[in-house]
Amino acid sequence: QSKPQARVDGSTGVTFSDVAGIEIAVEELQELVKYLKNPELFDKMGIKPPHGVLLEGPPGCGKTLVAKAIAGEAGVPFYQMAGSEFVEVLVGVGSARIRDLFKRAKVNRPSVIFIDEIDALATRRQGIFSDKTDDLYNAATQERETTLNQLLIELDGFDTGKGVIFLGATNRKDLLDPALLRPGRFDRKIRIRPPNAKGRLEILQVHARKVKLSESVDLSVFAQNLPGWSGARLAQLLQEAALVAVRNKHDSILQSDVGEAVDRLTVGPKRVALDLG
Ligand code: ATP
Repeated sequence: QSKPQARVDGSTGVTFSDVAGIEIAVEELQELVKYLKNPELFDKMGIKPPHGVLLEGPPGCGKTLVAKAIAGEAGVPFYQMAGSEFVEVLVGVGSARIRDLFKRAKVNRPSVIFIDEIDALATRRQGIFSDKTDDLYNAATQERETTLNQLLIELDGFDTGKGVIFLGATNRKDLLDPALLRPGRFDRKIRIRPPNAKGRLEILQVHARKVKLSESVDLSVFAQNLPGWSGARLAQLLQEAALVAVRNKHDSILQSDVGEAVDRLTVGPKRVALDLG
């Protein structure tokens, strides 16, 4: 049996316009979109498509968003699973799920497969029965290695799966088994960094489209004063600000509402003193 199955999204509805503040080569992503839109053309021209693309970076900075945007721009199905969903002690379950995932994606190609937290299933192999004597530990390690081997087999057989792009995301690239990083597996790596002040402003502007913000709000004040905030946290900030505005009986979100939302999302000594002007 091979449950849970990948969550399939016919069309993610996400485009590159939803992604902000990430200084990565957009052309590189566009190339993947072009490939998904017309895999036959690449094939005819003898261009080898990428096997896998690794999105690497801290939590909440847009790895899943970028993956969804690639599928959304190309208008192809998006098969999403988390690495932890392949980790089972029962023999063969993880590898069956991998086979199933790739099979479904190939049937509906062109398509995108996305495995979030890929480190959960693809940690460096240690060789089983090493110095541990715990049977359960050994069984779990063996099972995980079987699953990883199945993933490597699927990636190596990708020439027969034309039109499928495999994306993996991690915030712990150092934990990944080196075999996965060899050419022909993850042959491209895209580093997604936490946003700088300009990036934070762009992210706030993207999310401001979804809420009712008063024209007087100056988002750059918040972008400047919230170093270290991820895209996910900035998105949450505007949602929180909308709730605060409703509570304060304002027709639209005011600068003070956003300030209050910052306070609510900031705990303890890290409280940020903002000059709200
Ligand atoms: P994790 O490693 O925790 O899975 P992630 O890097 O995959 O995190 P996402 O799931 O893509 O992060 O981000 C969560 C949400 O935060 C997104 O759905 C989006 O609303 C917002 N967000 C994050 N980064 C960005 C960004 N660069 N531009 C716009 N929105 C962003």
